[in-house]
Amino acid sequence: MSERECTSVKVAIRVRPLLERERIKRCKECLIVLPNKSQLVLGKDQNFTFDYVFDESTSQENLYFDTIRPLVLSCLDGYNATVFAYGQTGSGKTYTIEGVDSDIELCGVIPRAAAEIFKHIETSDNDQATFVLKVSYLEIHLDEVRDLLSNTTEEIHIREDDRGNTVVQGLKEVPVSSSEELQKIMRYGMAVRTTGATQMNEQSSRSHAILTIHINKQSPKSVRNVEVTSAKFHFVDLAGSERAHRTGNIGERFKESVHINSGLLALGNVISALSDSKRKSGHVPYRASKITRLLKDSLGGNSRTLMITCVSPSSDSFEETLNSLKYAKRAR
Ligand code: ADP
Ligand code: MG
Repeated sequence: MSERECTSVKVAIRVRPLLERERIKRCKECLIVLPNKSQLVLGKDQNFTFDYVFDESTSQENLYFDTIRPLVLSCLDGYNATVFAYGQTGSGKTYTIEGVDSDIELCGVIPRAAAEIFKHIETSDNDQATFVLKVSYLEIHLDEVRDLLSNTTEEIHIREDDRGNTVVQGLKEVPVSSSEELQKIMRYGMAVRTTGATQMNEQSSRSHAILTIHINKQSPKSVRNVEVTSAKFHFVDLAGSERAHRTGNIGERFKESVHINSGLLALGNVISALSDSKRKSGHVPYRASKITRLLKDSLGGNSRTLMITCVSPSSDSFEETLNSLKYAKRAR
């Protein structure tokens, strides 16, 4: 195995199709995906190589199968996993992570992962192991954590237990016993997120949303001895990465973009430190932001991380796409 294949951080690019509104503006496509090469060319000659490059015709199913399914399987074996969707607003992050609810072909990685987990639990023999599954769903906005599944005003604290596991104190974890139930909770949290959004002017593109599936497996080893393994799978729909000036921000908006930029920067620094093999034993700056503190036990170590950078092919997004590809390149 090459060094690249065994690293725990992988980077994928997903190019979405041109949207109607871009066609109406007569935008042209400004990037080309080189088939089977995991490469793309932006503009005339800016070449990029990643672990995976998915073009606009890639189905939700294929993307899931190539990138997420292996992480789901390792999560069932007890390893934490994290998938991020990064990109400017409108680039396809929510489409990738959650998908389109009304069409089963278009459902995103969360419902597909949920279906796989429950299928595995129901069909495999598992040495009489019993599984307990829970789900939590939160949002980070202006560096504050908000529980999307509970409206208590209890404060949420991030701490680390004595075994190095991250504990989010005060966050509701809802037990789930089927994939349908999990999807219902996803929809509920999403609705809470977007209700806030219309009131607070599109907050959803300015916050990070993290849905976590907690998998607890208990395998009896003898009459008195039960082995317990637990793992988490985080699905992260990041805040839009667009540069501040585009949203013409002042006041509250400005404060938001400062938080977003520093969170995305901190995340980029952590991922880049983790994927730099020379720095493997070096310092990883988890403490620099809430999102990296929250995900600490699921980034690095034995966990597996996938960054999906979503981009628009449209010529009017050239600058943002270039910035996103640079960010992704740094992570790799
Ligand atoms: P974001 O969450 O990054 O702001 P969305 O996921 O909401 O962006 O996507 C913006 C629009 O583009 C939506 O209408 C979505 O349905 C469409 N879209 C995104 N990715 C794709 C894709 N791969 N194929 C088809 N339509 C897509
Ligand atoms: Mg979105």
